[in-house]
Amino acid sequence: MSTRDRRLAPDEILSVPMLDLRSEYSLLEEEISAAVLEVLRSGSFVDGPEVDALEAEMAAFLDVPHAVACSSGTDALRLALMATGIGAGDEVITTAFTFIATASAIVETGATPVFVDVDPRSWTLDPEQVAAAIGPRTRAILPVHLYGQPADMNSLRALSRKHRLVLIEDSAQAFGASLRGELKHLAAGACGDFGCFSLYPSKNLGGYGNAGLVVTHSRDSAQRLRALRNHGSHQRYQHELLGINSRMDEIQAAVLRIKLRHLERANRERRNIAAQYTAQLAGSAVTTPSANVYGRHVYNQYTILCRRRDALMQCLQDRSIPCAIHYPRPLHQQPALQGSFAARALPVTERLASQCLSLPIYPQMPSPFIQAVTSAILDFSSRKPSMP
Ligand SMILES: *Cc1c(COP(=O)(O)O)cnc(C)c1O
Repeated sequence: MSTRDRRLAPDEILSVPMLDLRSEYSLLEEEISAAVLEVLRSGSFVDGPEVDALEAEMAAFLDVPHAVACSSGTDALRLALMATGIGAGDEVITTAFTFIATASAIVETGATPVFVDVDPRSWTLDPEQVAAAIGPRTRAILPVHLYGQPADMNSLRALSRKHRLVLIEDSAQAFGASLRGELKHLAAGACGDFGCFSLYPSKNLGGYGNAGLVVTHSRDSAQRLRALRNHGSHQRYQHELLGINSRMDEIQAAVLRIKLRHLERANRERRNIAAQYTAQLAGSAVTTPSANVYGRHVYNQYTILCRRRDALMQCLQDRSIPCAIHYPRPLHQQPALQGSFAARALPVTERLASQCLSLPIYPQMPSPFIQAVTSAILDFSSRKPSMP
C-alpha cells in the first residue's frame, strides 16, 4: 500500500507536517545512499564529475544550452547580475512580494531595486506596471515565479526586447514549471537571459544542503558565470574578473541527480494535491490560488488568501495544523532595504501580504492530511466572525 492510501490513526492526523523530507528520503534511500557513498570513496568533493553530469542533465531537462551549478539560489541571482555587469547607478525592476534574496542580490551589486506591483491573479510581476517604471537607468527586469506559478514571460520578454533590458528569472520556487503560448515548451527559467534556481531542501528540486543553478542561452555568459563562481578564474591563479566562491559540492550534485529523475512525479503529486485542496475549499471563506495562469504551476507552496487570515491561522494552530505566511512583510517595507530604493505604494502586494497563508504541501502528502486541513478551514468558514 502506498503511504497515500494507508489509513491514518486519529492522532496521526493531528501531526500533519508542513513539509516531510523524511518520507521522500525513505522512498529514495537506497539510490541516494549508494550515490553519496560513491562520492565519499572517490575523494573528489567539489566541482568534479558529479557536478559536470548534473549540469548536463539539468540543461537537457530544462532544454537550455548552458547550466552552471553554484552553491545557493541567492548566489545564482548574484552571479547572473554580476555576469551582466549591472552595478551602481543601474536600476532593476522587480517585485516586493518575494523572499529577501531577490532584492538583496540586486542591492549587493550596487544597483537599485525598483519595486512595482504584482498582478492580482497570478501574484507575479505585472507587465503594465513594469512598462510604466522603465526609465533611462533601467538595466534589467527580474520577475519571480512565485510559489511555482510562472510569471507573464511573453509580455516581459517583449518588454525586455523592446527596451534592450536584461531579463533575469528568479525561478527558485519553480523547477519544472513551464510557460504556455508563444513561449510553448519553454521551462520557467529558460525564457529570459538568465534563469536562477535554488536547490535548497524545501524547493521543488531540493538537495540535502545548499545548492543553486544558473541557466543561460549565451555561451559567453556561461563562461563568465563559470569564472565568477570560482573567484573569477578560468585558469588557476589567473583572475581576469573578481568573482566569489560559489562552487557546488559533489555530494549535493550526486543527490540532485537522483532527485532530478523523480522530479516530474513529485511535481505531478504537488499539482494533484493542489487540485484536491482547491476542490475541497470551494465555497469556503478563503480564496484559492489561480491555477496555471501563464503556464504550468508546480506549487512549491499552496497559498490561499483570507480576510481573517490571522484568526484562521490561530484556528489551524489550535488543531496542530501547521501553516506559514509567505511573506508577511513585503520587501519595500523591510527595514534592511530602507534607503536603497525609491518608495512607492504597492496596494496589491500589501493586500496579499496581509491575507496570504500557505498550507502544508509536499509530494507524498496523504489524502487524510489534506482533508484534515480543509475540514479545519471549512469549520472556520462556517463560524461567524467575532465582532471587533
Ligand atoms: C529560496 C529562494 C531564494 C534563495 O535561494 P537560496 O538557495 O535559499 O539561497 C531566492 N528567491 C526566492 C523567490 C526563493 O524562494
